Amino acid sequence: MRFDTRLLHDGQPADPLTGAVNAPIYLSSTFRQSAPNRNRGYVYGRSGNPTRTVLETAIARLEGGATGLAFASGLGALTTLLESVPSGQRVVCVDDVYGGTYRLLEHHRRQFGLRVEFVDMSDLGRLRSALATPADLVYLESPTNPLLKLVDIAGAARLGHAAGAVVVVDNTFATPALQRPIERGADIVLHSTTKYLGGHSDIIGGALVVKDSRRGEQFRWLQNAVGAVPSPFDCYLALRGIHTLGVRMRAHGESARAVAEALSGRPQVSRVLYPGLRSHPQHALARRQMDGYGGMVSVELAGGRRAALRFLKGLRVFTLAESLGGVESLVDHPASMTHASVPRKEREAHGVTDGLVRLSCGIEDPADLAEDVVRALRGG
Ligand SMILES: *Cc1c(COP(=O)(O)O)cnc(C)c1O
Repeated sequence: MRFDTRLLHDGQPADPLTGAVNAPIYLSSTFRQSAPNRNRGYVYGRSGNPTRTVLETAIARLEGGATGLAFASGLGALTTLLESVPSGQRVVCVDDVYGGTYRLLEHHRRQFGLRVEFVDMSDLGRLRSALATPADLVYLESPTNPLLKLVDIAGAARLGHAAGAVVVVDNTFATPALQRPIERGADIVLHSTTKYLGGHSDIIGGALVVKDSRRGEQFRWLQNAVGAVPSPFDCYLALRGIHTLGVRMRAHGESARAVAEALSGRPQVSRVLYPGLRSHPQHALARRQMDGYGGMVSVELAGGRRAALRFLKGLRVFTLAESLGGVESLVDHPASMTHASVPRKEREAHGVTDGLVRLSCGIEDPADLAEDVVRALRGG
């Protein structure tokens, strides 16, 4: 079956009990045992829930891994992942990483002696140098947030494995509709299902997909031990979002292209970052590695912070809010919002300046979105 068909049917059979086409929401926290430790696969809602199982199986199939695990948030997934990394181990992480990921890795560095190095992996030469010292974990996003740099996932996975590392890809921005890291050699995929998989800005959720079933079972043990699990209702909403992922990602891509093209070449704009533009330094890699370019566009305004704030004020369709990946368009000022937890010096050193604005292009009419950004550039 092709991808769009699998979004609805892979790992999602009709409910065996009733024939319900959609996974029922099982709210029970516990399950009857016919004798001590004799059960039908479910014991207690933290260790497993039938609605969650459908979601976990669906995400695992879409990403091409053996085991899927759902969490209460993307950072809940990362917290559980980091529980598998003993203190003193070495992590090589992409430099332009989600702010909350940076904050949690820094916490582990200070609190538990994790050794963390941030590397610009858009240049595999730099990753190779960083991996001259053995590493236990290579952690990357592609496209990155908010600079939309790409990492050659197959190349990074080869280098990571040669250095003895487990390779983890945060696939939140691309989703399996556009990119499947496990097919390119990654060991684990992480998601914030809060974003495109949920797709409607109405849940907080996360997921891990593990390529190998033995490692998957270790993480299933950790999922239960840590307990950062989602509610059955949130699992249902994530599944409901996944059904429309294909059509939504195509619509997000159309919107993003319209917005990126409308912003390009304007005097108020110093650069437009969108992997689908031929001007993007890694456009060729994007074409090779992705089945589309996604819904995120970043733009740097020539007038710095003042111009950025004026632009935000002038927007009428885009809503100023954290988060991304929902059907409605959102705009973010990374330096003061999503990336405020990254120290200014570090932030600016790798390009997250005060003039940078990140746009999550929704599924409104692309022409309305393009008009909105042009009007805002002119001052509203
Ligand atoms: C939002 C996000 C996260 C964190 O997920 P939460 O669901 O907010 O905990 C991690 N990675 C990326 C790329 C994100 O955008």
